[in-house]
Amino acid sequence: MADKLYFVIPCYNEEEVLPETARRLQEKMHALIKSGMISGDSRVVFVNDGSGDRTWEIIRNLHEKDGLFSGVNLSRNRGHQNALLAGLMTVRPYCDMAISMDADLQDDINACDRMLEKYYSGSDIVYGVRSARKTDTWFKRTTAEGFYSLMKHMGTNTVSNHADFRLMSRRALDGLSEFGEVNLFLRGIVPMIGYPSDVVYYERAERFAGTSKYPLKKMLSFAVEGITSLSIEPLRIISQLGIAVFLVSIAILIYSLIRYAMGATVPGWTFLAISIWAIGGLILLALGVIGEYIGKIYLETKARPRYLIREFLDSEHGFDTDKP
Ligand code: UDP
Ligand code: MG
Repeated sequence: MADKLYFVIPCYNEEEVLPETARRLQEKMHALIKSGMISGDSRVVFVNDGSGDRTWEIIRNLHEKDGLFSGVNLSRNRGHQNALLAGLMTVRPYCDMAISMDADLQDDINACDRMLEKYYSGSDIVYGVRSARKTDTWFKRTTAEGFYSLMKHMGTNTVSNHADFRLMSRRALDGLSEFGEVNLFLRGIVPMIGYPSDVVYYERAERFAGTSKYPLKKMLSFAVEGITSLSIEPLRIISQLGIAVFLVSIAILIYSLIRYAMGATVPGWTFLAISIWAIGGLILLALGVIGEYIGKIYLETKARPRYLIREFLDSEHGFDTDKP
């Protein structure tokens, strides 16, 4: 008997691509079921992340037409990572494995066959890794590369060039559910689960339609989030910097004393001005980094829910929290 698969697809204002994504997934699922790779009651679940357009309407229609499609409707927009987590945690009790994928068809659906093969040969987690980023802009490519190498530097264990296209077994999902942080960075957390894993390479295509939901500002905050939620290295760098600056200031002290003894007390305005600005800048930077962590502690201690689900449309397990 083949295992039951749930595809989990977070969607935020994706009305333009959704019909095509659904069509291709439907085709793929039928092929997989026919070849006996997955069981006949496998599903595709779209998670509506508080979209302002017709996304939920489309998902509802898909579900009504074909029981293959399920839908999770979040109470409001919670961001890609939370939407994905909401989907994974909702289907966790019902599936043997789940594959997460973006809605915009940038990830190669056909890589799923190889993911499933690796799953059946014993991997709990299979990462989809981009072998080429030809279709990304030069800017996105370089910033992404910089980000992954920075992550490595900071001592975290992320898989380079892996976004959130991955297969996870039920056991891995159970493991994931044990991580309690509110600020969740899945790419950093999943490798910590530690069960057997493997990678599958694929070529990333261009967004099928619509625009990226990750403008520069969101990308930057995603990067800061990723680093500060996984590593305290920046705090250490600050203390090292502090020590270095302290040593330099001792050298300057000795130097000025010698100059003083020699009677050469020039006005030295430039030097003072530069020092004040340099030290001031460093202190502000350090405070900023520390503030980032304190902010994180503040948010974590409140332990607010990461998402709330209004409706789960599913031909077997659905529920609706709006209805009594
Ligand atoms: N997404 C989401 N909530 C958000 C932003 C994005 O669920 O607040 C989804 C989006 O619909 C897509 C995926 O996350 O399925 C990745 O977003 P996108 O393709 O815009 O990012 P990019 O590929 O440009 O990095
Ligand atoms: Mg995309």
